[in-house]
Amino acid sequence: MTQEDSNPIESFVTAERATHQQPRVKITGLMMQYYHVCERELWFMSRGIDIDREDANIRRGTHIDETSYRDKRKSFQINGRINIDILDSGDVIEVKASSTLEKPVRMQLLYYLWYLDRIVDIKRDGVLAYPSERKRESVILTDNARSEIRTSIRRIIEIVERDTAPELDKKPFCDACLYQDLCWM
Ligand code: SF4
Repeated sequence: MTQEDSNPIESFVTAERATHQQPRVKITGLMMQYYHVCERELWFMSRGIDIDREDANIRRGTHIDETSYRDKRKSFQINGRINIDILDSGDVIEVKASSTLEKPVRMQLLYYLWYLDRIVDIKRDGVLAYPSERKRESVILTDNARSEIRTSIRRIIEIVERDTAPELDKKPFCDACLYQDLCWM
């Protein structure tokens, strides 16, 4: 067993911090969100099977993400794939069209906070905002949240490195999932 197999989190952190190394799996915030929706959805995404960006709901959601708080936030990209928006207050903000995927979206934001802390040594709190629902919540990287992120990273690496998609299993999100034609027809 290699050191990478025995301690995937430390290997991931070391590779992300180094300029000349790549992690086994380049984990984005969206991958963290997908993992908490459905492991099969994550695997599809990791194979480049993309959703239809012209879908009306996706376009609407993207529009809300891009336009809300525009004058109060600045966007940053780390390692070419971690996209973070920071408010004037210093908090990291994640804007979504709806709170339907509350837990997956919270985990996405917590991953950003964890990544900032562990990879670039910046400690921040987060804000989850749903402008169309007039709802905002604070998100803090507690010890429990750190532990949940580490567990999620381990599982994401395992799932993405599988040769085949995780078994089909009905999820509460299937009816609204853009991969439903691949799974259920
Ligand atoms: S349709 Fe259901 S099982 Fe298939 S990827 Fe989407 S959520 Fe997962």
